[in-house]
Amino acid sequence: MYPNAFEYSAAASFKEAVARLAELGSEAKVLAGGCSLIPLMKLRLAEPAHLVDIGRVPDAAYMREVDGELRIGALTREADVERSPLIATRSPILADASSVIADPLVRNMGTVGGNLAHGDPANDHPAVMLALRATIVALGPEGERTIPADDFFIGLFETALEPGEILTEIRIPAPPTGSGGAYVKFERQVGDFAIAAAAVAVRLEDGQVADASIALTNAGPTVIRASAAESALAGRAPDDGSLRDAAAAARDEAQPWPDVRGNAEMKKRLAGVAVERALRLAIRRAAEGRA
Ligand code: FAD
Repeated sequence: MYPNAFEYSAAASFKEAVARLAELGSEAKVLAGGCSLIPLMKLRLAEPAHLVDIGRVPDAAYMREVDGELRIGALTREADVERSPLIATRSPILADASSVIADPLVRNMGTVGGNLAHGDPANDHPAVMLALRATIVALGPEGERTIPADDFFIGLFETALEPGEILTEIRIPAPPTGSGGAYVKFERQVGDFAIAAAAVAVRLEDGQVADASIALTNAGPTVIRASAAESALAGRAPDDGSLRDAAAAARDEAQPWPDVRGNAEMKKRLAGVAVERALRLAIRRAAEGRA
């Protein structure tokens, strides 16, 4: 199908886009890579009267360290995350996720900001940002503000972005010594959304798990933090027993819906397996000093 008729304008800056959105009101939508919005418009599930294209805003696609903090511009394309030498050494969990988002064509266009702003619990970056305890930077009519990732995803396709606000940057704290992260996804076929997936970040100290941060993709109406799984692991040696306990706790916390990708029980079990496998990879990376 074709989208309904709509007006289009391209913004030369985020500030200009915010002003445009304020002028146009609720009938306008932000267009970034278009990899979610355009398919929804073609299915007539979204019928914005006006698109404000931010795709060509200059200096909005970057990955850089500022005082140890990793800053990712909203328009950074998935393919660039996937191939970035900085990400490979500083935060490989981000490349784990980008590399399993859709297919190369979509990864060349889809943006990290759009992946988060879309608010789809099946998207791969939300769990990663929870695991990394990231902060989202938003610019709106009232100026700039920051939102912890834990407070950003508030409902199915619903985020804490206010009407007229634009996600401009993602900030990821410097990983303390002994940190490691990983993202493991189960999908029916390459390019599909997750049947189940887990993002984990751990910090090892004196052979124990000093801190664990675990989040699940496609395990409920929003991305969820597996707090019981984190507690099952914290303060223990990263051995088979503690990893299996964390996986079992995550399995119980997952609340997936049955759909074409599987029934709820199967998805819960896979969520547990994803947590265990991601933890093993994260602990190995932490031991190798690869964040
Ligand atoms: P757009 O489609 O342009 O926008 C998405 C939504 O976010 C819109 O509501 C838009 O208004 C809003 N928005 C975008 N950017 C901003 C911003 N900076 N500030 C405020 N609002 C904003 N995703 C996965 O995670 N994993 C997958 O496996 C996966 N498979 C896919 C397979 C296919 C074939 C396709 C077409 C998509 C798939 N996706 C998948 C979804 C898609 O890749 C992501 O949701 C995409 O990253 C969205 O980014 P975008 O830049 O294209 O956003």
